[in-house]
Amino acid sequence: MSDSKPTNSTPSAQPPVEHSAVEINPPRKVAAGLPAIVSTFKAAWSETGIVRGVRTLLSLNQTGGVDCPGCAWPEPDVERSHFEFCENGAKHIADEATTKRVTPEFFNQWSVADLSLQSDQWLGAQGRITHPMLLRRDATHYEPVEWEEAFSLIAGELNALESPDQAIFYTSGRTSNEAAFLYQLFVRQFGTNNLPDCSNMCHESSGTALNETIGVGKGTVRLEDFDQAQAIFVIGQNPGTNHPRMLTSLERAKRNGCKLVHINPLPEAGMIRFKHPQDVLGLFGNGTALADLFLQVKINGDVALLKGISKAVLAAEERKPGAVLDHDFIEKYTSGYGEFTTALQAVKWDEIVDLSGVSRNLIEEAAQIFIGSERTIFCWAMGLTQHQNAVANIQEIVNLMLLRGQVGKPGAGVCPVRGHSNVQGDRTVGIWERPTSAFLDSLAHEFDFEPPRRHGYDTVRAIQAMHDRQAKVFFALGGNFLSATPDTEFTAAGLRRCRLTAHVSTKLNRAHLVTGETALILPCLGRTEIDEQKTGPQFVTTENSMGVVQISRGSLPPASPHLLSEPQIVARLAEATLGTRTTVNWQALASDYNQIRNHIEHVVPGFSDYNQRIQRPAGFYLPNAARERDFKTSDGKARFTVHALPAHDLAPGQFLMMTIRSHDQFNTSVYSLNDRYRGISNGRRVVFLNEADILDAGLQPRQQVDLVSHFGDAERVAHKFTVVPYDIPRGCAATYFPEANVLVPIGSVAEKSNTPASKSVVISIRPS
Ligand code: SF4
Repeated sequence: MSDSKPTNSTPSAQPPVEHSAVEINPPRKVAAGLPAIVSTFKAAWSETGIVRGVRTLLSLNQTGGVDCPGCAWPEPDVERSHFEFCENGAKHIADEATTKRVTPEFFNQWSVADLSLQSDQWLGAQGRITHPMLLRRDATHYEPVEWEEAFSLIAGELNALESPDQAIFYTSGRTSNEAAFLYQLFVRQFGTNNLPDCSNMCHESSGTALNETIGVGKGTVRLEDFDQAQAIFVIGQNPGTNHPRMLTSLERAKRNGCKLVHINPLPEAGMIRFKHPQDVLGLFGNGTALADLFLQVKINGDVALLKGISKAVLAAEERKPGAVLDHDFIEKYTSGYGEFTTALQAVKWDEIVDLSGVSRNLIEEAAQIFIGSERTIFCWAMGLTQHQNAVANIQEIVNLMLLRGQVGKPGAGVCPVRGHSNVQGDRTVGIWERPTSAFLDSLAHEFDFEPPRRHGYDTVRAIQAMHDRQAKVFFALGGNFLSATPDTEFTAAGLRRCRLTAHVSTKLNRAHLVTGETALILPCLGRTEIDEQKTGPQFVTTENSMGVVQISRGSLPPASPHLLSEPQIVARLAEATLGTRTTVNWQALASDYNQIRNHIEHVVPGFSDYNQRIQRPAGFYLPNAARERDFKTSDGKARFTVHALPAHDLAPGQFLMMTIRSHDQFNTSVYSLNDRYRGISNGRRVVFLNEADILDAGLQPRQQVDLVSHFGDAERVAHKFTVVPYDIPRGCAATYFPEANVLVPIGSVAEKSNTPASKSVVISIRPS
């Protein structure tokens, strides 16, 4: 990108079209190994310098060190190596601990409109924001602002609203337990439950599905269960890119004789073969072959496929009565078995094969692995959760697992793998637009106030409320709301209609550029930095995917003396906004995080002796009733459920598209234009298509095309994507997000969970 001259044009909500030619090479069949090490150290050294880089990496995921701000994969409870991180973890750390700075001079030089013409990668690469910045109404440039003025400006806007429900308070999954708890307390004392979070866009479907069927909205396994499992199914997930250290657990399981089944529309390097970067033999040998069986399911063919496996299991039971199903478990712990089996008998194999795109033989082979295992784990991620029938996807896994009593025993269970380090913890401590009465009662009792009881907006409803001018102030504790959300132009229009948008951030992103009438950037400390408060240095806590609460403590000096910690920002905003209306001593809490943890202990079940137990080297586990076969559902049983087979009536020339992440990307943070494992370099505007579909559509490999999504009567267009022939089922397409978010209709959401259906987008393709 060139140093463009300032303009007065409306800032662009979408990243610019790349002008360089995309390089396409054969995809890799091995994950990690030497290239991962090279990439790790390149990232760490180039951004942070050798001394800072080594210091930070050696404390990453160590007991009492920095909890990786990347995904939520857990660390071993005992015996951690000195290198408990992956290539991606190193990139996240380098990204945060960079020595580059975005100063007031930088903002003086660049107008907001001109910044919006830069790529997301370029924006993130400019470095850490050093000062609070204000974009005044009609101004073209951000200017520095004192913290006091920033808080009083936000407080003024909040207090001028006709109703607290006209404000939206978003949370990203990086936020610590302490900051999240304070934040929800402030928001509820202000008077609303408008607390959307990134979970609304990822594992909300898992939480909804699991709560209904096993009575807990989280997974039931621990890391140690992977060592005991005899079969692990990984479905709708790409661990090599999105949860890389999970490959270490899978490799160990494999060496213990465990069978691995991968179910996904794309073959992914990580599940084919893995070279452990810390193992000399693994590094220089051929690595370990991982998946024993790969089922290349069509996009959203999972319900059909899972029904097929269940059907094959029931057929095996018919052949050998009493030898396949766990009748004692079904009898004692479940409900709905009869309705489930009756409905399944009516499903035809032809439909299963047609809708899943997988042959009956392969489905039966998967069923044999399932039947042959006494201890089975099912893992999944966004591949299952972002469809209109996402809740059904996950509940079909539960059905299958209940047939053989694979929940609530060692080495077995369900495992939704979370993509952001504390997304699970934030929900646990109260970030939820639909809080339970029990939680609100506890909060009311602890802080002597009456919290609002009406439900708030989730992410999709928040966007619609801004768009409809029902919401006028948008505040984000972390994240890149504009790029993470669906229907980019619709979301951008909503943000532009706000009176004020404010973001607590460490680095520049597109959400700072598409703003309300007035906008603020409030720069905060990163996880890697020392958090010094009046009572001394503080640490924060997070909860990983398996319910372990642990310490995260930074050791680097802050990127700027003007940064505040997230708890301080929340506390000072609360003081400015609530004035004498509050029952809370905010400064006392923000000066001593032990006090916040004491309150969490009183309000949230499972945190007894929080400040004592958190000092244990590996933290502590939160209770998980389903793990103990105590199913806290509406009827006290684990519930079989019945779901229709979802079908997509694609017109000729239409494809079902899913958005995916590249290997050099963490959620909305794009680190480079390369996707090493899939053989793509120098570009991100690509559409992966089956070679036969390219031919049938009269297209050419490498041709530039526009993608058009169809929902109701509306069409949405994403311009200038390069056609890449790829091993993907016919009728399917894959594109990177956030570039393709513009195609995801705001109204296309999962039933019950309201999660955007970003992996079931109907598109057609036309030459650019
Ligand atoms: S696996 Fe996830 S949590 Fe672990 S180092 Fe990698 S990105 Fe961080």
